Amino acid sequence: MPDAAVPLPHPVTGQLFPSPVPPGTGWPGDPACPSTTVATTAEEVAALAAAARDVADVDAHVSVCRACPRLVAWRESVATTGRRASFANQPYWGRPGPGFGDAAPRVLVVGLAPAANGTNRTGRLFTGDRSGDWIYAALHRAGYANQPESVAAGDGLELIGLRIVSAVRCAPPANRPTPEERRTCGQWLDRELALVAPGLRSMLALGAIGWEAALASARRLGWDVPRPRPRFGHGAEVLLRAADGHRVRLLGSYHVSQQNTFTGRLTEEMLDEVVARL
Ligand code: SF4
Repeated sequence: MPDAAVPLPHPVTGQLFPSPVPPGTGWPGDPACPSTTVATTAEEVAALAAAARDVADVDAHVSVCRACPRLVAWRESVATTGRRASFANQPYWGRPGPGFGDAAPRVLVVGLAPAANGTNRTGRLFTGDRSGDWIYAALHRAGYANQPESVAAGDGLELIGLRIVSAVRCAPPANRPTPEERRTCGQWLDRELALVAPGLRSMLALGAIGWEAALASARRLGWDVPRPRPRFGHGAEVLLRAADGHRVRLLGSYHVSQQNTFTGRLTEEMLDEVVARL
């Protein structure tokens, strides 16, 4: 395994980067700059999220956030000493995965959390792993993406009228964030949802945690959410009313994880059917 301090070439641009990637050094799509303020506690996340003027501002602060010590340690250990052998000659982003896509979307996709060797390597949600192959191919078939593949930041992928975020923005060990980590990171989601709400028509929650995060965030923002809390299921649908009174449809899909796609629990047809209802 090469020393992580030794810069390695980005797979698209060839520019050399150490792992983790310092903010504002030229990584494709890096929303931060070297002076972007870093949140180190849940309280600082709350303050920076509240002050964010737009989603670009949220993205910048998310991408340098260090508020969850366990997740910071994990994402950086994967990026330095824990890199997968097949990616050993690539730099690892090693930072949180900010939202990706349209800044004023009609549709918001809410996933679970970055993958250790996917987003945590590439710096873009659902990029560089099998789950990304599934979701972006489906979004391309439905006209929300300009290409079906998502290989690396800088590969030309653009989303049309749609934005992807995750309930937790750092890769968690065993894909399991703690309740406290979900609460802390949910503050970024709250702000992002509030900022995109005026033009939002629907949301797609991938998996039960995305579903819970979307509903919890909507409720914290004062949206009208049915009680008792609607249950997650593939194809589940619930109508929410945003704070300004307009309706937003929330749809649920099984997560595009390999656990579901390899076993046939989620098929392309099942995913396409839900995406068509957005
Ligand atoms: S999980 Fe969210 S709140 Fe916690 S460090 Fe990562 S970006 Fe920050």
